[in-house]
Amino acid sequence: MGAAESGVGTAILAQKQGWDVFVSDMGSIKDKYKQQLDAHHIQWEEGGHTESLILNADTVVKSPGIPDTAPLVQKLIQQGTPVLAELEFAKPYSRGKTICITGSNGKTTTTTLIYYIMKQWGVDVGLAGNIGRSFALQVAEGDHDWYVLEISSFQLDNMYTFRADIAVLMNITPDHLDRYEFQMQHYVDSKMRILQNMRPTDAFIYWNQDEHIGRELKMRKEGHIAPATTPSSRPAAKGDPKEMGFDDTRFGGLGLSFSQMGRHNERNATAAYLATKEAGVPDELIRKCLADFPGVEHRLERVEERGGILFINDSKATNVDACHVALQAMTRPTILIVGGKDKGNDYTVLFDLIRQKCAGLVYLGADNAKLHASFDPLGLPVRDTHSMEDCVKACIDMARPGDCVLLSPCCASFDLFRNMEDRGEQFKALVRKYAPSTDRCTE
Ligand code: ADP
Repeated sequence: MGAAESGVGTAILAQKQGWDVFVSDMGSIKDKYKQQLDAHHIQWEEGGHTESLILNADTVVKSPGIPDTAPLVQKLIQQGTPVLAELEFAKPYSRGKTICITGSNGKTTTTTLIYYIMKQWGVDVGLAGNIGRSFALQVAEGDHDWYVLEISSFQLDNMYTFRADIAVLMNITPDHLDRYEFQMQHYVDSKMRILQNMRPTDAFIYWNQDEHIGRELKMRKEGHIAPATTPSSRPAAKGDPKEMGFDDTRFGGLGLSFSQMGRHNERNATAAYLATKEAGVPDELIRKCLADFPGVEHRLERVEERGGILFINDSKATNVDACHVALQAMTRPTILIVGGKDKGNDYTVLFDLIRQKCAGLVYLGADNAKLHASFDPLGLPVRDTHSMEDCVKACIDMARPGDCVLLSPCCASFDLFRNMEDRGEQFKALVRKYAPSTDRCTE
């Protein structure tokens, strides 16, 4: 169910393994996926599910975007049909060892960094999960010795026998609670499922200053296991992997240096260091990779330094927490760009940092009224803009040599942009177009 990256990869792998495969999508299927399915002569439908066919399946693999509460999924669960995540379905067909990364924040950065280090080490490694090409397709197309997998809580919800060789849990903060009956504990249980089936020879790496993870580990030792989330599922087995918690002093303690800015990135680097060390990568190589890592697009990405002004693209910051960690990482007077589609943000948590770090604010949204009401009382220079072009021009006008311009908008992008990538790309292109050249500035 669901014909995007994970669904289509699963279909191709399943067919190769001798299953009769049918792919069904409620919405419309992208052309590239239709072509892939057709090339393998796999039957598909779009614009609705043919219930009789789906209820007749031996196994259903569903896209992580479809909640367990969807009526057809409920029917499947009630009649005892296994409903699995792609990773759960595909893992038995792979010979690869896995490094699995989950958490509320920092997954993509840590996953990309670990993959980068493993690649530099020279092993046969695939990058998958919520990122890149699907795990199932890579298994179907020849498999790898290692996989670095970014795993969301939605995938974990439908994983029962899957076992990580090395698991990394960055943090657990409220997110996606609408999928968890608005109960934080259900979301916490989902994240802790990364531990299920682990053995004493496996390693569990986690940030031990997180309020939930420590408590959950203590409860596990007392016998509490995160419950299975669907009636048809087996309960998670009790595991006892090697626990490798780390705190914020570890980065300095290990004498690491990382190419990316911010305390949160030091945590991501520490987790990647411990995970790759556990995988067997030589210490010196890991350190070199941390220093060289080019970063991940749209996450505190250095765009350019022009005329003494540093431009940073953090378009991925679609909530207040992300902007908070970005501001903490700033070491120069900052012109902050905020705005977009607000998800009920409480901006007051940013006020102290804005007072400390910011030289000005540029609002960028279809409707900036709430930004004015929230931030104008701080008394900083502000500008009101409704397009990226005007926004970049306003920033250049406000910024002085030695300043930094930070796009970390706290909001979703859909009011003015296709998505956060589009917002970040427009920002970068316009900075390159309008920012003063270094020569002009030194004159
Ligand atoms: P995810 O894939 O979990 O969304 P990313 O690596 O894409 O994580 O980072 C998204 C945002 O989360 C970043 O822009 C940053 O603001 C914040 N972030 C990244 N790493 C951490 C961390 N270790 N702790 C807290 N916040 C983080």
